[in-house]
Amino acid sequence: MTVRVRFAPSPTGHLHVGGARTAIFNWLFAHRNRGEFIIRVEDTDQARSTLESESMVLGDLKWLGLEWQEGPDVGGPHAPYRQSERLAVYGAAAQQLLATGAAYRCFCSEEALEAKRKKAEEEARPPHYDLTCFRLSAQEVSAKLAAWAPFALRFHVPEDGDVTIDDLIRGAVTWRKESLGDFILVRSDGLPTYNFSVVVDDHDMEITHVIRAEEHLTNTHRQVLIYRALGWGVPQFAHVSLILGPDRSKLSKRHGATSVTAYADEGFLPEAMVNYLTLLGWSTPDGREIFGDDYAFENFSLDRVNSAPAVFDRQKLEWLNGQYIHDRSSAELRPLVRRFLETVAPDAWLDEAIDVVKKSVDRLTLFTEALRFVWHYDARAVSHSMDANFVTALLVEFDTHGAPKSADEFQLMIERLKKATGLKGKSLFMPLRLAVTGVEHGPELVRAVPLLESGSKVDPSIVSPRDRVAALARLLNG
Ligand code: GLU
Repeated sequence: MTVRVRFAPSPTGHLHVGGARTAIFNWLFAHRNRGEFIIRVEDTDQARSTLESESMVLGDLKWLGLEWQEGPDVGGPHAPYRQSERLAVYGAAAQQLLATGAAYRCFCSEEALEAKRKKAEEEARPPHYDLTCFRLSAQEVSAKLAAWAPFALRFHVPEDGDVTIDDLIRGAVTWRKESLGDFILVRSDGLPTYNFSVVVDDHDMEITHVIRAEEHLTNTHRQVLIYRALGWGVPQFAHVSLILGPDRSKLSKRHGATSVTAYADEGFLPEAMVNYLTLLGWSTPDGREIFGDDYAFENFSLDRVNSAPAVFDRQKLEWLNGQYIHDRSSAELRPLVRRFLETVAPDAWLDEAIDVVKKSVDRLTLFTEALRFVWHYDARAVSHSMDANFVTALLVEFDTHGAPKSADEFQLMIERLKKATGLKGKSLFMPLRLAVTGVEHGPELVRAVPLLESGSKVDPSIVSPRDRVAALARLLNG
């Protein structure tokens, strides 16, 4: 049997990192088992679902590098893949449940139900439906239908309504019949409830494994009863644990960015995100932490997914992202960095610039900061901590020999400056760094100085080392 799994987002906003992790686990599981990965959009909450959100969610999944064989955008043998377009499929299943007596029409109004719930609460009873409409005679039902009374479709929990599943992550989970009251399958507006549509779709789409968030575990009781009533086989379930923030409460906006888009905007690489999210709950068999898709496809398994909640560790994500950035060639990083950096400088120069600062950067957006010294130089601020004699010597050096264009020329310059100033080591390099780059910390001077020199030739907004020092000299010597 072909393994078929699905990710079933509700299009009510951006893709959350928790949703992304669920999608990734499904995608990896499909690959590991040479199966199929399906996207189904659960948009029956009409007030909150939008097509715009659907395309954002699909865009985020694509940005992460996920691919699916069937979905609303690519179609497939079980189309349509949007629940709002599948009402006829739910209607047929509803008819079957009505015909067998597994479900019945409920004519109770919202107000009547609310009153019943309140009463149950006052009497400290479970708030289960009191079966008023289950007990209606055929004649009573006909009379109400003839009077066009609106109704919902309610599932009747059978006597043998206990359910045990063998969850692939959590092991055996059992629910007792008594914990459930008769529940709604189709609302009076004709729209199916989540528990109903999910069962009909997972069956119709031949889903073999339902891998989803832990918050749906309790829904599984109802869903298994619906499968049984329809005489359908039940898929295997795997409920993935929650993601927590560092304070061990459920990950939320309070903890920082939660949407995949926000991480993209902050300069995280999709490969690093996928790697990190895969490790949120799954551990590799050989303990490695950095791996690509092929490794995960080969090794992913649900029995190495932890049933305990995973804690989202932003620092670890940044570290991992840094590893991916340091590992990339400048040519690979360049198009990504250009998005965050405005310069007319040609590719060859930008490649060198990226290479000079890469090791200090763990997010793409931070290239702007790391390269700020290239476009930003405040001679007045620097002049306050400079010695006029040193500046003069440096200007003479640049005017006589030109600013260094290579590491070799840089070394020769250092030798000459040592002689001219009598300084060496830190007391030479610190003022040199400040005079040329304008900042106390930054990349190696042996590369930064030639970078500024070559940059000034290709981007008119880059001030050359010589002109920086000349500006300093003017300020210091009046
Ligand atoms: N649409 C549900 C959600 O976004 C997923 C339901 C499921 O996977 O069964 O939480």
